[in-house]
Amino acid sequence: MPLRRLAALTAVVALAVPLVSSAAASESSSASAGRAEAPHGSAGVGDPYFPLDGNGGIDVRAYDVHDRYRFSEGRLSGWTAVRLTATKAISGFNLDFLLPVSRVEVDGRRVHFDQRHHELSIDAPLADGESARVVVRYSGLPGRYSYAGESNWLADDHEVVAMNQPHMAPWWFPANDHPLDRSLMRISITVPSDRQVVANGRRVQRTVRGGLATTTWQADEPMVPYLAFFAAGSFEIARGRADGRRWVVAVSKGLGTASQRVAMGLMRQTPALVHWLEGVIGTYPFRQVGGLTTSLPVGFALENQTRPTYPFMGDSPGAVRTVVHELAHQWFGDSVAIEGWRDIWLNEGWATYLEDYYTETHGGPMTDELMRDAYGDIPAGDSFWNHEVADPCPDHDACVGPIFADFVYDRGGMALSALRNRIGDRDFSTLLRRWAADRAGGNGNTDQFQALAEKVSGQDLGSFFDAWVRSPSKPADTVANGLG
Ligand SMILES: [Zn+2]
Repeated sequence: MPLRRLAALTAVVALAVPLVSSAAASESSSASAGRAEAPHGSAGVGDPYFPLDGNGGIDVRAYDVHDRYRFSEGRLSGWTAVRLTATKAISGFNLDFLLPVSRVEVDGRRVHFDQRHHELSIDAPLADGESARVVVRYSGLPGRYSYAGESNWLADDHEVVAMNQPHMAPWWFPANDHPLDRSLMRISITVPSDRQVVANGRRVQRTVRGGLATTTWQADEPMVPYLAFFAAGSFEIARGRADGRRWVVAVSKGLGTASQRVAMGLMRQTPALVHWLEGVIGTYPFRQVGGLTTSLPVGFALENQTRPTYPFMGDSPGAVRTVVHELAHQWFGDSVAIEGWRDIWLNEGWATYLEDYYTETHGGPMTDELMRDAYGDIPAGDSFWNHEVADPCPDHDACVGPIFADFVYDRGGMALSALRNRIGDRDFSTLLRRWAADRAGGNGNTDQFQALAEKVSGQDLGSFFDAWVRSPSKPADTVANGLG
C-alpha cells in the first residue's frame, strides 16, 4: 500500500460486530439435498495471517457491482453479480462481506444463506468445474463495520472513497477477498447527479435519472479484490493519452483552489512517471492509468489497480516519491500479486526501492548510499532488525499492523539495494524485469523470488536471503550481504 499508515490505523476503535441472522432462513434448501455429500467450501483460502480471507472451493471470474450511496445517511445499498466456478464439488460456498444481505440468487433461483459477520455462507451445490452466477442484494451502513481490526469506511457528507489494504471489498461488495483470486471488475455507482464517480479502468457509461446518476467503470484486466476502488464526490477530472494508453486523473474540489491546483499538477505527472518506470521495469501491465487525490483525511496512499489514490501531499519531493511508489506497485503488487500476506515485502520492498532509485536517477543520492546510511544509523538492538521481513507476523495475530511496519518497507527496500550490490547492476536489472514479466497476472512468494535471483545470477543466495529477510537480527557487515 501506502507510504505509511499514519495515525489512521492506530486510532481505529473496533466496533461491536452485529450478528446478522439469515433473512431467508425459512426458505427451502431442498436444492442441495441431492449432492449433500459434497462439503461446503471452507470459510478461508488458507492464509494464516487472515484465516477468514478468501474462501475454499470457488474461483471468481467477474464481479458486476451495482451500489447506491446515500451521503447523508452513510448508507450503501445495491446488488452484485458474482460469476464464479467451483474448483471442486461443493454443497455451497462462502463470500466475504460485512453488510446485511437480504437476498441471494444462484442462476436466477433464490437460495438459502446464512451470514455471520465477515462470512456470507450460501447453499448452492456445484459440481467440480461448474459455473454459476450469484446475485447478492444488500443494504447497510458500512461505517459501522469492522474486520481484522480495520474500520475502513472513509466518507463524509460530500465525498466517499473505498480504498484500503489488505481488505476493502467486504465493505462494498461480496468478494473472494484474497490476492490468490483475481477477477474482472465492472463497477456501477449511483449518487446524486451533481457528483462524479471515479473507479478502476475506464468510464464506460453514465446515465442520469430523477436527480441520480449511475456511472459505470470497467477495467480491461482482472484484479485482486482489495485493488478495486471507487470514489464519489466533486472532482476536477483531467484526461489524456500518453504512450498509447489513456490516462484519467482526478482531484477533489473539497481541497480548496490552491491545494487543488498543486494536487492536479502532481497527478498530471503520472504519465511521465509511468514512462520512466517502464524504462526501468518493462512494459506497463495495464491499458489504463491515472490517479486520484481525495480531500478525506486518509493517512496513506494506495495502489488501486490503474488508479492509485492519494491524500493531499503538497508539492514536496516526498509527494513525487509517493506517486512513484504507488505506480511501481502497478507492477509489483497489482500485476504480480503476492501469494500470501507474509510475502508483502515483495510489494513494499520493490516500491520503496524504486522510490530511492527514482531519487538516484534524478539528481539525488545513490540508493546504495541511502541503504548504507540507514544500515549505519540503526543499531542492532533496534526493533527494526528484530523481525523477519519475509514473515512479519509470525504469531498470526493482529497482522494488519505488522504487515505494514517500517521494517517491511525499509528493510525490504534495503535488502533489494544490497542484492543489487551482491549480484551487480546488470543481473539485478534482469531480475527486476523478469520478476515483473514472468509473473505478470499471477502470484509469487519469497522462495520463488530467491530462486529467480539465483537463476539470473548463477549464485547461491541462501545465506544472503536468510540474513536480510529471514532473520530477526541485523545482517553482518559483509560483502556477501551486499555490504562491507
Ligand atoms: Zn506500498
